[in-house]
Amino acid sequence: MDSTHFAPDFSLTQPTSVVVLGAARSGLAAALFLHKKGYQVFLSDAGRMDDGTCAQLRAQGIAFEQGGHADAFGKQPAFVVASPGIPLTAKPYQWAQQNQIPVVSEVELAWQFLQTMDSPPPVVAVTGSNGKSTVVSLIAALLRTAGYRVSACGNIGLPLIQCVAEHESQPFDYLVLEISSFQLETTYTLQPAFALLLNLYENHLDRHGDLETYFALKSRLFQCQSARDIAILSQENPWCQRLAQQLNALREGPQVLDFSVAQVTEGQHLMYQGEALLPLSEIRLQGRHNLENIAAVLTLAEQLKLSGEVIAETLRYFQGMPHRLEPVGEWQGCLFINDSKSTNYLAAETALKSMTRPVIWIAGGQDKGGDFSPLARCVHDKVKHAVLMGESQVNFSRSLSQSGYNQMTRVNGMKAALAEALRHAESGDVILLSPATASYDAYANFEARGDDFRAHVAQLISEA
Ligand code: ADP
Repeated sequence: MDSTHFAPDFSLTQPTSVVVLGAARSGLAAALFLHKKGYQVFLSDAGRMDDGTCAQLRAQGIAFEQGGHADAFGKQPAFVVASPGIPLTAKPYQWAQQNQIPVVSEVELAWQFLQTMDSPPPVVAVTGSNGKSTVVSLIAALLRTAGYRVSACGNIGLPLIQCVAEHESQPFDYLVLEISSFQLETTYTLQPAFALLLNLYENHLDRHGDLETYFALKSRLFQCQSARDIAILSQENPWCQRLAQQLNALREGPQVLDFSVAQVTEGQHLMYQGEALLPLSEIRLQGRHNLENIAAVLTLAEQLKLSGEVIAETLRYFQGMPHRLEPVGEWQGCLFINDSKSTNYLAAETALKSMTRPVIWIAGGQDKGGDFSPLARCVHDKVKHAVLMGESQVNFSRSLSQSGYNQMTRVNGMKAALAEALRHAESGDVILLSPATASYDAYANFEARGDDFRAHVAQLISEA
């Protein structure tokens, strides 16, 4: 579906009526913000809201429905704020389309409000198939080290609209925004001063249909940038290079800068502005993919005129986000690593490739499918023993056997997985949870899965 059909023509200067679809984090934040600004808000969620949310809405006097959108569909709001979780083909959009009601993301809404303020802070926006949260949090960490007041927001968890509200009373120097293709579907006028596309791989095609559409959505982040803005794109990723060509061909387009691991490394050193900054061994973030992320961040850092001292100091302590190659304990010479965020084959492949010690690999969960063979090749190269759990264990074990790999055991549950991993581990090994699957067969989300792993490791260590 062509999402431009919903391109809005609405004014924020006069509070009107608005329907907010979806009461997850961003929908709730948008509803509360608009209500405070005097809008007549109706919040509608197809599922059940928790008691705390309902109580909060009642206390504020915000009308809402749950378990369907029947009441929302009877309204004629000036515009709709869409949850990124609702695909454009879903019923609420058909209703909006039929009634010619503009649909905007919470990011679009926040951006438009930001533009009504006296001195909006520069927005650094980050997108890509992988690495967004890591890069957003690293940029925020650098800016904080440099003494700026910053918010890391958007898809990473804190809705942009909440930061806009906070900026009114306590101004930010920068907003560092993680933005997903789902949010970009209904974002139209965002003009980040700095926009980064880290990479683009096959992802979310169940929602976007094909890679061209996915690419077009990611490209939207740059569509409103002008000659005073900066686009930072990977030199290594062909889709990023395609976008670079398109942007370079524009007369008033952004300044395009590229990044690569080669640009920022020389031998065993990280380079910045032509000088060796620190030995790679002093960087806490692990793996080549994280060097790519660092390369993107260093390109931005130069534009922000951050000093080498600030960067070195930050990289020495910044160890990334929880659940992404997160070291969670050491016992009898074995290092336990939680990479629960690995919810697809490519993420597990990336994790395995970044391992420098023998690996006992714990994997499996709700399989998203795809081509297993590159991951299987990595398993041959890196994995001493695979412990397979969850719904996907039969499929994974079949695929690995077909590739000629047989060092594996099937188990049920995290506790059994850890016990089995330990049976095969020796001092010097890594026990890596990198499931390559979604977590929903056994957990509420990947965070709960990673927390479970971490808790079992902690118990093991404390009982020893
Ligand atoms: P996102 O926010 O885009 O989901 P994260 O920063 O949370 O990305 O990282 C999720 C996983 O993606 C990591 O555990 C790692 O396996 C993989 N990853 C991170 N950065 C990159 C990169 N630059 N290229 C490829 N894979 C990456």
